Amino acid sequence: MNQTKEKNQCGEASKCCASPMTQPAPSERIPQNHTSAKVAYRIVKDELLPQTQPRLNLATFVTTNMDEYATRLMNEAVAINYIDETEYPRVAVICGRCINMMANLWNSPEKAEWKAGAVGIGSSEACMLGGVAAWLRWRERRKAQGKPLDKANLVISSGYQVVWEKFCQLWQIELRTVPLSKQHPTLDIQKAIEMCDENTICVVPIQGVTWTGMNDDVEALDAALEAYNAKTGYQIPIHVDAASGGFILPFLNPERKWDFRLKWVLSISTSGHKYGLVYPGLGWVIWKDKKYLPQEMSFSVNYLGANITQVGLNFSRPAAQILAQYYNFLHLGMEGYRKIQEVSMEIARYCHKEIGQMVPFECYAKELDNPLFIWSLKAEYAAKAKWTLFDLQDKLRQSGWMVPAYTMPKDIDDMTVMRIVVRQGFSRDMADMLLKDMADAVKELEALEYPTTSRLKCQRKEHLKGKVYTH
Ligand SMILES: *Cc1c(COP(=O)(O)O)cnc(C)c1O
Repeated sequence: MNQTKEKNQCGEASKCCASPMTQPAPSERIPQNHTSAKVAYRIVKDELLPQTQPRLNLATFVTTNMDEYATRLMNEAVAINYIDETEYPRVAVICGRCINMMANLWNSPEKAEWKAGAVGIGSSEACMLGGVAAWLRWRERRKAQGKPLDKANLVISSGYQVVWEKFCQLWQIELRTVPLSKQHPTLDIQKAIEMCDENTICVVPIQGVTWTGMNDDVEALDAALEAYNAKTGYQIPIHVDAASGGFILPFLNPERKWDFRLKWVLSISTSGHKYGLVYPGLGWVIWKDKKYLPQEMSFSVNYLGANITQVGLNFSRPAAQILAQYYNFLHLGMEGYRKIQEVSMEIARYCHKEIGQMVPFECYAKELDNPLFIWSLKAEYAAKAKWTLFDLQDKLRQSGWMVPAYTMPKDIDDMTVMRIVVRQGFSRDMADMLLKDMADAVKELEALEYPTTSRLKCQRKEHLKGKVYTH
């Protein structure tokens, strides 16, 4: 920002306060003078105005809708810091209860009164903690064997969420990715095992792959690792990234074994703010037993007179989401969660079927594992079409819908898809409105005389440049 602008923005108080609405919003320095609360509120509020209506945003996984009591509870707790145990000792107790409930939801065998787990800001923090624990356990074993510690690696499918890249980068662990392919739309177990060696800290299957909505087969992976570990004498465990699936499978598919019932699953993470139905940011990680949570990860601090033991990357964090998670458990119960997830699933299946029947499209998954799915243009259709899914995304945005189009991860990055995440609050009526808007948009695009810019870029493969953020 240049000097003149800066001066205008932060001129005399009278000038500044008289018409801050006519000045460019400060973006470099804190303004010299104050702006009235009302005007400052208006300016900040207006910044958010042109964005998509949360209810029409089918791109996000994160809760945008909680009931009146939950919202009240959270607003009333907005000033509570989770770490202030002396002031609010019950917050830690409620957090511990949530951890117990999550552990039992995932069939933890742990008998202790307080199960081993931790709260995080989201799955990202929870995944990091699960990853760090696996890495420390691996180091412990290697040290005991007098073997080098410098070549740790982690095995995951190329459909991983960006947190795993962050984890591996920050802790300097080699990220080994098993490519997704048309033959293997989920983790290719055999390839995953082939990538393992003595330096593998864990394999990470995903329940609710961000890119596709599908589940990796954890039971098959567990069996394959059992055979591999028996043969090699290694002890490669599983951390399940169940950001979405952790709150879907226990309610809709309780027989399916993906959790602590499996031998090598030692930790699981999820997002409380996705299908846990809490506003952002909340994540959970649970270990199968205290013995899998390395001592070095628990920090005891004397804070404001209380001795607090904490596992986490953050220290201070809001308590409101934890209270809201507990509220949801109380209020909804198993039955309430099941009903809500069933409705989301039913609406997702309906959209999946309808979109699959539209002439230009084909869906990626035959059956839905989670209430989200992707689809693409049929190859023969795409070859002749003058438009792409990016054009459809723009068209739908004109009617207020946020339906993202993106290219798939490497090895199948020639494939462009669109995704819908169905969440609580998306009704059958809204689904019908969306489907109608989609059909109209397709009709308009089909009437085009010339190829769109996006179509020309696709022909030149320019759409593959730059990463697409998918959530
Ligand atoms: C959303 C997601 C994450 C990251 O979770 P946040 O709660 O956004 O931090 C990690 N893994 C998967 C599979 C996800 O879908």
